[in-house]
Amino acid sequence: MAERKYDKGESFRDRVSTVDKQGKRSWVYAHKPQGRFYNIRSILTILYVLVLFIVPFIKIDGHPLFLFNIPERRFILFGFIFWPQDVLFFGLGMITTFVFIIVFTVAFGRLFCGWVCPQTIFMDLIFRRIEFWIEGDAPKQKALDKAPWDREKILKKGAKYIIFFAISFLVGNALLAYIIGIDELIKVITEPFSQHVVGFSLMLIFSGIFFFLFSWFREQACTVVCPYGRLQGVMMDRDSFMVAYDYKRGEPRGVMRKNETRTIGDCIDCNLCVNVCPTGIDIRHGTQMECTNCTACIDACDNVMDKIQKPRGLIRYASENSIAEGKPFTVTPRNKVYGVVLILLCIVLGALLYTRTDIDTTIMRAKGMLYQEVGADSVSNLYTLKLLNKTFNDIPMTLKPDDSSAEIRYIGGHPEINVKKEGYAEVTFFVVYHKDKIKKRKTDIKLSLYHGEEKIKTLKTTFLGPIG
Ligand code: SF4
Ligand code: SF4
Repeated sequence: MAERKYDKGESFRDRVSTVDKQGKRSWVYAHKPQGRFYNIRSILTILYVLVLFIVPFIKIDGHPLFLFNIPERRFILFGFIFWPQDVLFFGLGMITTFVFIIVFTVAFGRLFCGWVCPQTIFMDLIFRRIEFWIEGDAPKQKALDKAPWDREKILKKGAKYIIFFAISFLVGNALLAYIIGIDELIKVITEPFSQHVVGFSLMLIFSGIFFFLFSWFREQACTVVCPYGRLQGVMMDRDSFMVAYDYKRGEPRGVMRKNETRTIGDCIDCNLCVNVCPTGIDIRHGTQMECTNCTACIDACDNVMDKIQKPRGLIRYASENSIAEGKPFTVTPRNKVYGVVLILLCIVLGALLYTRTDIDTTIMRAKGMLYQEVGADSVSNLYTLKLLNKTFNDIPMTLKPDDSSAEIRYIGGHPEINVKKEGYAEVTFFVVYHKDKIKKRKTDIKLSLYHGEEKIKTLKTTFLGPIG
């Protein structure tokens, strides 16, 4: 295993980068990043924000595209409604998602954190950007924090926190729209407070949480709280794809003098990669738990390399092994296998979604009853059928035995079962057979549900007869 000869001990790993030796918070004054990755992430941010705020307004047949109504246990994904009864789907879906996350992280490291995670995107590319705009770059922010509360400081801090709260309010409302739906949210906003005390309280709580998160807690969410970040140590290995410093090329580092012919490593120890880091770490120490793979250090170092006319990529996406062996990052056979596993998992999830039925049924023979004699030559069994309609439309159905010699007799005589949209129905009925048709004590039978002429489900159950 290659060694990092430049490491001067691992004491930086003794504590989180944003906490000092006394255990106090060290505020990170990150410099404004500039470069190609920052530009691409900025464009993606616009896309994400549009998606976040537009999706709640998208409806399919009058129903939201996504809804995660936890209090009412009502979930809509891509226009399909899911119920707690979809436990198999949820179970398999969650297992598939967990496996996906693990496999993805082993192969591609924290790509998600830097490019998709809403916390990183909002913090680095929206809230910090507003801070740069109002207070200036890191040194000016630091100076402003130290300055007395004069007119300029009150105006700047006031403007910043008003804008921060306004955005937190919008984000909080967007989140609420995914929980209660946009129509209900509009009612909360437009109707009297007394009619929506819970909704209005949630709106304020969410806004407050986001305001606290982005104005004060900031990178602590990634470095101290996020469980995904904490699990990196066990999920990533030396072949994982990550933001890494090429110590083979960079070391021994040293300041560059004017007109110097460089005989040492390419790192000129300018510290710009450290200055831009929003979690306050030095990537040159190697992979660290705090790194969110935000790419700010790549951009900073690439800009330095351009200036000193060295190739870009002293800090780049690479694996520990590719840097140790001095080779460009290649997709390893293991990563290819994981890629295939990821595709298969997506197919499994897609298939689960596709094969999910609109009607859930449970059929039970009446407990404690055997069979009943019907006249001189027939026997019957009593059944209860429970139906759950998981769609947004009423579904009238009829139940017919697959065996034409059997007959269904409803208690109360209702030949059509109408299951209301998003509703339950329960019917009790007899299945009647001529005794000649029953050859065993327990016979497997099939009953089918029809919507019009279309068979939508076949139910299997057993029929008890008199023959032992
Ligand atoms: S930005 Fe590049 S050159 Fe400057 S200290 Fe960091 S790694 Fe070294
Ligand atoms: S080390 Fe680089 S990629 Fe990691 S958080 Fe800091 S700036 Fe972002």
